[in-house]
Amino acid sequence: MRILLVEDNNEDREAISSILEKRNETVFAFSQSDSAWEFVQKTPDIDVVIVSLNLADSEGLDICWNCRILAAQRKTMYVVAISEHVNAHILVEALDSGADDFLHKPLQEDILLARLRVAERVVTLQKQLVQLANHDSLTNLYNRRAFLEKTHALIEKQGEDNPICAIMFDIDHFKSVNDRFGHDVGDEVIRTVARIAQTESKLSGRLGGEEFAIIIPDHSLYDAACSANRIREEIESTPIIAGNNTIEITSSFGVALYHPGDDVDALLKRADTALYHSKRNGRNRVTVERSKSKRLAMQTYCVAAQ
Ligand code: GH3
Ligand code: MG
Ligand code: MG
Repeated sequence: MRILLVEDNNEDREAISSILEKRNETVFAFSQSDSAWEFVQKTPDIDVVIVSLNLADSEGLDICWNCRILAAQRKTMYVVAISEHVNAHILVEALDSGADDFLHKPLQEDILLARLRVAERVVTLQKQLVQLANHDSLTNLYNRRAFLEKTHALIEKQGEDNPICAIMFDIDHFKSVNDRFGHDVGDEVIRTVARIAQTESKLSGRLGGEEFAIIIPDHSLYDAACSANRIREEIESTPIIAGNNTIEITSSFGVALYHPGDDVDALLKRADTALYHSKRNGRNRVTVERSKSKRLAMQTYCVAAQ
């Protein structure tokens, strides 16, 4: 596990670090709460925080509290408060401030390690729950809710100067795949398309049945259209074998650029409108939404070779 330790007593900090390191845990040890807090905010994969309540000015309780808030966003982080004083008031205050566990100093090695085994069980379970809650079980892509949440977070992080493009696409005549070959084969088609969708960006989602979305950050609209076209070509040239049948499929794409002031829905709506144009104009093509001064213009950029 990756463990953050905040302890200003040098002797205690070194003793705890050496117990943890003997067990091959990765330890980030800090003597001051402000540098520890700065570190934990920019380091996303901290599993456990061990924090001394004997830091000056209740800073230990502040760390518990702030980590609990951070854990609500990241969904995994187990906080262990440690203190050389123990009474009901301190214990209740620590737990109410967001600690998951409380240990009395000096720490006994076997007790610390047993408590960390509990922490590991809880953190592992939390990670599994987050994985299940955020991913579509058929394709393992982000599900609709998680995709919208991640895109929203990316828009907030990017600021107005860095481009973000959205690609939406939908498998063509997919219903007839189900009708002709059965639902299981349809599922295999969706899994294959999802694998291809992931090749252009880490932020890819399955928004519904046979509808996908991809976010391309830090690239122009033209680059995003090229990404969409590569996916289109790869889908078109990847046959799916089902028994004695070889199924060839195509997909239609819409691409749009984020505009300052857009929210996620507005961005995806514009990509979806472009996708609709691809469907109307013959399918198996990429349409780019180019809107200037609220006038909408669609440009079909990349069309299948006839
Ligand atoms: P278009 O080219 O206009 O997109 O036509 P389409 O047939 O692809 O679209 P339509 O919306 O008519 O049909 C989508 C079908 O996708 C209907 C639904 O039963 C099927 N579907 C939705 N989710 C799943 C799934 O998880 N697995 C399978 N096998 N089929 C699904
Ligand atoms: Mg479809
Ligand atoms: Mg559809």
